[in-house]
Amino acid sequence: MTQISEGRKFAYYAGMALIVVGFLLFVSVFVTGAMQFGDFTDFHGRAQSSMFRALGGMALMVGGSVLRTVGARGIAGSGVVLDPKRARRDLEPWSRMGGGMVKDALEEADVKLGGGQERVVMVKCRACGKLNEEDSKFCQECGQAI
Ligand SMILES: [Zn+2]
Repeated sequence: MTQISEGRKFAYYAGMALIVVGFLLFVSVFVTGAMQFGDFTDFHGRAQSSMFRALGGMALMVGGSVLRTVGARGIAGSGVVLDPKRARRDLEPWSRMGGGMVKDALEEADVKLGGGQERVVMVKCRACGKLNEEDSKFCQECGQAI
């Protein structure tokens, strides 16, 4: 049974944090831009710093989502390393989860369809009257052909 390793969990949450930081950095460009609207002192320097923050924020978001995908699916599972065997192992917790959900759904459907009230057709032996299962060829009691 493969569990998602601590390292992968860390990568996932670190990636999520990077996305948040990148997003805030990106948004801050517009917030400060709006606050300083109409103030043209050192316009060039501020425009440059805004651009760096916008680009840096985008880079952080992209890097963060890559890290998060790697954390969730593993190095091979997310396609960073081409290794089908490892990918299979990396994705095993997910496929197990998927299989479990399908199984749950099937079990639920079975309950709703009234599974368990299975009807067994019995055949009565002509010689002794014993009830035998439909597909049996000989009577369980007397051995007479059915
Ligand atoms: Zn019989």
